[in-house]
Amino acid sequence: MVHAHPVIALLPLLLLACASPPGSGPGPQGGDSGTADGGGPGDGGSGAEQDIVTTHLALDLENRTGVATLQVQPAAGASTVLLDVSGLDLRGVTVDGVAVGPEVRDGMLPVPVDPGGAPVQIEVAYDFPARSDVDFDGWMPGLGVSFTWPYFCGNLYPCDPQLRDGVRYTMEVTGAPAGQRAIFPARIPSDAPSYMPAVAVGDYQELALGTTSAGTTLRALYLPGASGLEGAQAGTELLVDVFDYFERVYGPYSFGADVATVEVDWGADSWGGMEHHPYFHVGRFDFDDGEVHAHEAAHGWFGDGVRIGCWEDFVLSEGTVTYMAARATEQVGGRELWSYYVEGFLIPICEGLDVNTVVLPETCNEIDLLHHDIWSLATYMKGACFYEEVADLVGADLLDEVIAELYQERVGGTARMQDMIDRILARTDPSHHAAIETLAEEWLRTEACPKDYAERCGAH
Ligand SMILES: [Zn+2]
Repeated sequence: MVHAHPVIALLPLLLLACASPPGSGPGPQGGDSGTADGGGPGDGGSGAEQDIVTTHLALDLENRTGVATLQVQPAAGASTVLLDVSGLDLRGVTVDGVAVGPEVRDGMLPVPVDPGGAPVQIEVAYDFPARSDVDFDGWMPGLGVSFTWPYFCGNLYPCDPQLRDGVRYTMEVTGAPAGQRAIFPARIPSDAPSYMPAVAVGDYQELALGTTSAGTTLRALYLPGASGLEGAQAGTELLVDVFDYFERVYGPYSFGADVATVEVDWGADSWGGMEHHPYFHVGRFDFDDGEVHAHEAAHGWFGDGVRIGCWEDFVLSEGTVTYMAARATEQVGGRELWSYYVEGFLIPICEGLDVNTVVLPETCNEIDLLHHDIWSLATYMKGACFYEEVADLVGADLLDEVIAELYQERVGGTARMQDMIDRILARTDPSHHAAIETLAEEWLRTEACPKDYAERCGAH
């Protein structure tokens, strides 16, 4: 997700992201805590919950109309499929080709289905609103980019924003302004979170970056202006090697063989990036920063490839990929990032100049992420420091193996941060277990930073 920048950029970014969610949207509180950590490929296979299997989106940006075609497995015994359409004006709904007329209630569309449980095809024709760059929660024509993280998919297409439901997508987008290209993935071939599909339009230029040993081709799509080609070259110099490291060490990438990093204009807050795999977005102020490209690329493994089980597991996404970006960058001969993390981010957090918090709350889907302190850099940095200290203790190679195992076991499904901690314990010598538990306690479950935090996380 948005990997916010130091103090200077964090405040506006947080304000922007805290713009009120659609009053009627389900938000994270709609999640049901009991089932979120079921995880594993093909999650939802139990049939207990409704499962949107695939979604085809046909979006016309000029007229702001869409047609979404969803293949859905209804919940066992259910007489409706519930879709979030909070921000949409519906034109028509069909189920297996037959028109139906359900009434939207509290932003949710209860699509009638036969309780027999057979899969259905639901087609929804709709208008989607232009969202302002203050709302920052849907299609923003003023900026030429969509943004639906974390649970605003219902402003762009009918969806289920709950984390447990991964979806495969196909997309077609028309109506880009004359002379501009619309950048979107025609196909997202494995289960993705609802905020992953996105579109950006602009006067994109293309820089071929190369191909990894697994055959994944990477490109940079950059905009004319500030940093242009030089910025794109600087920011992506190591991206093929970093991506290759992720594939070799953590496991095969699940979102196809064609990957791009896409420069986007988020106005005054064009810092950081957003994990819209396989064409992930990087803000234009950071397009020359290799760390941000590496960070967003790593979300292909955690955050997207493996979805977090609960919003409270945000650290499994952000802490893990912050660590992976530093680890891979170092392993492919790039710069050492720990002093940058510590001096730029961790010290302000620990010294009270930036938000600090317990980054792994005990609940599951009981918080509203955008209005909770874990939506802050504390989660990124304290999470990364937990991994860094585990690596110092047991060896970075062994930690890579653990991360790889959890990824390969859960790709396409969900996992919780506790699953990672348990996996670390299961794969390390019992003589280290007390120390590992202490690191989890100090970095993840305690608000105050550990004594000597800067030396400990920075000494590498
Ligand atoms: Zn991130």
